[in-house]
Amino acid sequence: MRIVLLGAPGAGKGTQCKRIVERYNLLHLSSGDILRKERAEGSELGKQAQGYMDQGALVPDELIVEMMAKAIDDAPDSGYVLDGFPRTVNQAAELDKALKAKDQSIDAVVNLVIDDGVITRRLTGRRSCPQCGAVYHIENMPPKVDNKCDKDGAELVHRSDDTVEVVQNRLKTYHDQTKPVIGYYQKTSSVFDVDADKAVDQVSNLIFDKLDSLAKA
Ligand SMILES: [Zn+2]
Repeated sequence: MRIVLLGAPGAGKGTQCKRIVERYNLLHLSSGDILRKERAEGSELGKQAQGYMDQGALVPDELIVEMMAKAIDDAPDSGYVLDGFPRTVNQAAELDKALKAKDQSIDAVVNLVIDDGVITRRLTGRRSCPQCGAVYHIENMPPKVDNKCDKDGAELVHRSDDTVEVVQNRLKTYHDQTKPVIGYYQKTSSVFDVDADKAVDQVSNLIFDKLDSLAKA
């Protein structure tokens, strides 16, 4: 199975990806991880990417797709999951070209659907402990003592990327750039919309139902 998992920031992509990978024995491919690995290894692609980053520029789509295409070659026959990639229609089109050269295509796109308001509450309610890294949520998982870590009593902090303004900006970028990717795939692959405003296990089961039917087909 060759799967793309999409969804807004905070929709739970990372968690669901891990579960999909375990159930179907797939390779988990995240563009962020692959970019970090190529740079750390100082590969030719990594050096090129570093050059753009040193200038404060975005790494071009072609380069990102080349890295992903290279990583895909290490996938087992059972397949892979692309985590939050492609992010733009241009990346999706470049990826299709690279896959075509390998005689492959994307079988299914899982789209985690969740309301912006729910995501904003999820992300802006997070508080973390600067000492041990424990994460709390003011509504869903509050600490026993207001704003203090249960484990070490440290004062909890609100990370700067969890503020309302930053979250809303990330959502806007997602709607502008990534939502059209779903329209792109609707023309060529099976796109499964999954309601992600549920408990983690329920969301996993919804995803498994769709992918099981695909695996059987
Ligand atoms: Zn702590």
